[in-house]
Amino acid sequence: MINKKISILGSTGSIGTQTLDVVRFHGDIEVLAISGNKNIKVLEQQTREFKPGLICVYDDELAETFKEKIKDLKNIEVVSGMDGLIKVATLQNVDMVVTAVVGMIGIKPTIEAIKAGKDIALANKETLVTAGHLIMPLIKKMGVKLFPVDSEHSAILQAIHGYKNDDIYKILLTASGGPFRGRKKEDLANIKLEDALKHPNWSMGAKITIDSSTMVNKGLEVIEAKWLYDVDIDQIQVVVQPTSIIHSMVEFKDGAVIAQLGTPDMRLPIQYALYETERLNLPGERLDFHKLKNIEFEEPDMETFEGLKLAILVGKIGGSLTTVFNAANEKAVALFLDRKIGYLDIFAIIKECVENHENIENPSLEEILATEKWTYDFIEDSLK
Ligand code: MG
Repeated sequence: MINKKISILGSTGSIGTQTLDVVRFHGDIEVLAISGNKNIKVLEQQTREFKPGLICVYDDELAETFKEKIKDLKNIEVVSGMDGLIKVATLQNVDMVVTAVVGMIGIKPTIEAIKAGKDIALANKETLVTAGHLIMPLIKKMGVKLFPVDSEHSAILQAIHGYKNDDIYKILLTASGGPFRGRKKEDLANIKLEDALKHPNWSMGAKITIDSSTMVNKGLEVIEAKWLYDVDIDQIQVVVQPTSIIHSMVEFKDGAVIAQLGTPDMRLPIQYALYETERLNLPGERLDFHKLKNIEFEEPDMETFEGLKLAILVGKIGGSLTTVFNAANEKAVALFLDRKIGYLDIFAIIKECVENHENIENPSLEEILATEKWTYDFIEDSLK
């Protein structure tokens, strides 16, 4: 029996493929539409297995190649570009949209999906970081449900289950500290791309793996948590828990702390979102507390990992600054992945952009996108 109809923005990425693992395992969710960027090989496999009727290949030229590849299949529409993504996000009969595209590109389709009355399983960080002030009221107005797919925000949702946001005293957002935990600034200067791409606990896409190593990822998650759970930035404390066993905790008004623990497996937060907090079977490794013995905690080193400190600062100020922070990081990480800049330049670039931006309070979507462009141009000019 079909439980739900979904579409997936970014089905070929890490979250997208694991979403399809969950769908395959339970067999009661129908995938009506998917989208990918360049990986048409995986997109073709997914199309043949899950039989969505609508596929967006973001790249125009590759969309044509893709059409050729699947021309033996009947009743399939192939679209491309931003219009194509929006079509996937707003397709009739879809109940829930999984937004797993990486980057600012995810904002417009997510907004359109909410406007079309779709529930959202949100894995795209940029949406709330840059446009939380637009998204949260829109969610309320449209009466749709939003489920975070990130392990930390899902853990918080699981801890709050049955309580109200008003009951929260503090959110304890856990962080692994990444592969460079314990190192000082001077040790980070010569970090190579290969080292930064090794995460101790989680297997994720390249961009988010770098973001985890710089702890910028945690900074983005602090800003997201503020919007998702309607708390002040000061109510969110980042706690380093190196083995990623505790996925986050909530301290309530009465002093009780509720944590969600588990092995690091993204399929759990994905399933929790897809099935709207229902508890279902999920095969995989389980925690063995006899073997575990202890769980350690540390304070984050924000002098070395300046990106986290800066994120908390821009999160407090708000406005278009969070867009600048995010876009500067996105660009800097892309340059680092291209071996064009050094590791510490990521922090330097973010800092310079944030310092040179004239903040806009409550920016519109157009202003957010213009701010993104300003940031990219600013970085390009300063690299010349
Ligand atoms: Mg996370």
